[in-house]
Amino acid sequence: MEHSCYAELFGALKSCQNCEILLNENLQNHSTFHIGGPADVLLLPASIADFLQILQTVFALNIPYKIIGNGSNILFHDAGFRGVMIKTTAFTRVSASGHVIQAECGASLAKCARYAKEMSLTGFERLFGIPGTVGGALAMNAGAFGTEIADLLYSATVFDVKTQEVKKLSREELDFGYRSSAISDRDYILLCAEFALEPGDSSAILDEMNICAEKRRRSQPCNFPSAGSIFKRPPNDYAGRLIEAAGLKGMRIGDAEVSEKHAGFIVNCGHASAKDVCELIALVQERVRETSDVLLACEIEILAER
Ligand SMILES: Cc1cc2nc3c(=O)[nH]c(=O)nc-3n(C[C@H](O)[C@H](O)[C@H](O)COP(=O)(O)OP(=O)(O)OC[C@H]3O[C@@H](n4cnc5c(N)ncnc54)[C@H](O)[C@@H]3O)c2cc1C
Repeated sequence: MEHSCYAELFGALKSCQNCEILLNENLQNHSTFHIGGPADVLLLPASIADFLQILQTVFALNIPYKIIGNGSNILFHDAGFRGVMIKTTAFTRVSASGHVIQAECGASLAKCARYAKEMSLTGFERLFGIPGTVGGALAMNAGAFGTEIADLLYSATVFDVKTQEVKKLSREELDFGYRSSAISDRDYILLCAEFALEPGDSSAILDEMNICAEKRRRSQPCNFPSAGSIFKRPPNDYAGRLIEAAGLKGMRIGDAEVSEKHAGFIVNCGHASAKDVCELIALVQERVRETSDVLLACEIEILAER
């Protein structure tokens, strides 16, 4: 990237109230996989107003950008990112009005679930252990134990990339599917969301959160860096079962390994590179195709070199 372009960006950012600017920031620090090279610029706005101002500036200057939440569903490239990464985790306000909870896009699902429990509102508890933000979760319609986040959505306030307008959209307008939606940093960038919950009993909600957390601890490789399930669930089956049936548990390329505990996860056993992970994904897809005639689709987003 041209340095003059960043100079203009930094000039424009002076009017932001509060925005951390990191240069040549190692993306390993922003990925639950602990993988990735440096980003030219990583910005952490501390409010929706600053987030919006950054978006408008980045579009006006035509700078390549990528929005990230907690980096728990992305594999960053080993060469990093030539452009501006905008991370949302510094604005995380959650509030309630009656049975409706409003959350800024950088709020974690854990924070939303805890807040809902405090307000004796039920619905969020099964999403408690997903280590993502509201923005990342709505972008891929995250779900667990029978709840998808789209089930709870009442409305979403977004920045429309095409028209550069802020709009409020209903669930029906966002085209949710299994691990997919119209929210993405190429179309509708989420600013905040409203979730319609039901009145519930706070101690029963807490019990359900604890049960879900315990199920995760028992079945998932929580002590290794990962991006959760690598593959989407194929129709009428489970990716983990097919991978295990192909004899791939423990299969390793470099420091990337098909988890011994849950074959649907690839874990970073030390210093895995994105290249190791991509090669292992391709190997798993090939072997499962051979043994079960199923092509596993990736659930995680793999960032190309740029
Ligand atoms: C141990 C572990 C367990 C997991 N378990 C589950 C599970 O049970 N169920 C499940 O569904 N997932 C699971 N995941 C995957 C992941 O946590 C979820 O997909 C999560 O919702 C991603 O949120 P994030 O903030 O980390 O998003 P990121 O990984 O930072 O981003 C994901 C995508 O969302 C986009 N995005 C982020 N914020 C915005 C925004 N404001 N507007 C527009 N686009 C945006 C990004 O550009 C990117 O394309 C797990 C991951 C791990 C590591």
